[in-house]
This record gives sequence, C-alpha cells and structure tokens, in this order.
Amino acid sequence: MSNQELRMTRQRRVILEEIRRFDGHPTADEVYEAVRKRLPRISMSTIYRDLEALCEWGKIQVLEVGCSKKHFDADTNNHYHARCIRCGRVTNLPVQPFTYLEQAFRDLCDYKVIGHRLELIGLCPDCLKQQKEKQRQAATEPVEADKKG
Ligand SMILES: [Zn+2]
Ligand SMILES: [Zn+2]
Repeated sequence: MSNQELRMTRQRRVILEEIRRFDGHPTADEVYEAVRKRLPRISMSTIYRDLEALCEWGKIQVLEVGCSKKHFDADTNNHYHARCIRCGRVTNLPVQPFTYLEQAFRDLCDYKVIGHRLELIGLCPDCLKQQKEKQRQAATEPVEADKKG
C-alpha cells in the first residue's frame, strides 16, 4: 500500500470519530449515515474504500462471521463480542481474553498461533425483552396474536 493511501485525511478522521462514537460496532451503512451528516457529499463507495484503508492501517478492525454483515470496531485490542441473532447488534463482552487458549492450541497443533477471536451469539437484552413481551401478549390475547401472524 502506498503512502498516499495511508494518509489520514480529514474524511478518514471523521469516519474514525464516528465509529468510536458508536458503542454497538456499526455496519458500513451505519457509518455512512453518521458520516453523511458531517460530510454530506461523501459516497458509499468512498466510505468502503476508507474503511478498508483504516483496517489495513490497523486503526480499526472488521468483525465478520460467516455471511453476516460486517461490523467495524475502533478498538483494535483483543476483546470478545456477543452478536444478537435477531437485530444483528454486536456488543463487547466484559471479560479478559483467555490467553491460555492460545498456549493450549500451541501445544496441540503445529500451527503458529498469533491470536484468537471469540464471539458469542444469542439475543440482546432489547430483543429478549421484545420476545417476552410478545409471548406475554400472545398468552393474554390469543386472537390478536393470530391476526398479526
Ligand atoms: Zn437484538
Ligand atoms: Zn468491540
């Protein structure tokens, strides 16, 4: 990558600031919506290019699992995440990384282990609340619940 591409432009600084402002690890769409309020003429493809550059530069990390949406994280230290299977929200987990895992795998395989990632999947508190609310409604108003399908 050339120096030109690694330059911290004003635009990239704004993108980085907006990612830091989110505590829920924004997707590219969310970054775009936030940055557009400050730089109205920016395009989605520019955002993608800048996100990629910031990532290669080590300023942000990309959280990607399977075919789920990419989320961006301005905290590049190793930490664990939980992902909600309903709304897709990604949050940090309040635990220190289990570094002994890496040592364990170093002993078990020939792989040169340089790190690991861990992501829990489940329902976030908001979705869990909504689900309980629905169940409660379904229990008290069975006819209404059927209509909504
Ligand atoms: Zn959720
Ligand atoms: Zn994070």
